[in-house]
Amino acid sequence: MAKPIIIGNWKMNGLSEEADHIVSVLLTYAEQNQNFAPTVICPPFTQLYHIRKHVKNTPYALGAQDCHIAEKGAYTGDISAAMLKDVGAEYVILGHSERRAEHKESNELVNKKAVAAYKSGLLPIVCIGETKEERDSNQYKDVIANQIKGSLPEHFNGLVAYEPVWAIGTGVSAKNEDIAEVILFIREKLVAQYGENGKKTPILYGGSVKPNNVKDIFAIPELGGVLVGGVSLIPEDFLQLVTIAQ
Ligand code: PEP
Repeated sequence: MAKPIIIGNWKMNGLSEEADHIVSVLLTYAEQNQNFAPTVICPPFTQLYHIRKHVKNTPYALGAQDCHIAEKGAYTGDISAAMLKDVGAEYVILGHSERRAEHKESNELVNKKAVAAYKSGLLPIVCIGETKEERDSNQYKDVIANQIKGSLPEHFNGLVAYEPVWAIGTGVSAKNEDIAEVILFIREKLVAQYGENGKKTPILYGGSVKPNNVKDIFAIPELGGVLVGGVSLIPEDFLQLVTIAQ
């Protein structure tokens, strides 16, 4: 069975000193350990170029946290997928619930970003997941079905991350049976949308994953890995996830 993938989303954290510290702990671990589970670190844009130099030829891959839909042009303040590829990123997180909420990103926009990522040779990690209200009112499956239909492009070669909004950064992970139910639901939808290819798409879980709950989460059928926020900034804890995944 393939080892689960671990993706660390630093969000808007990581000044140079902190970034250097995290990366040096990760590199020391990589020197001492083999059989690595696939591990991706997604620092803010400002650290990508610098970190690229350190993680080149190590087991760590680099990802970004967003991209624009255009390749280049008059989009002040934005970053294109081609630029991310140029500085060594291989992955890009798209449609994170923080961007959907704070930047009003729609399924349609996330879909266009996934196309842009694909064209530039990046693997998109498309985030989906319901809010607390949608879970409590039992609408979560409709929300997730809509997000899959709307956010994933016609040709999709990336990863899907199920991140219930109410579990992100709260310290309270979703219950394993609830995660398992949604992961199977997502798989069904992917197969309906993409046929055989939909069976291969890795489906990740994100939301308060920690060293003390990750083992049970990895045991969930069809789960392809985890997307972690807070713990990715504590390299010792993050590496515990990597160790457990091996
Ligand atoms: C996230 O930011 O995608 C996330 C899952 O955060 P946390 O692990 O802190 O809940």
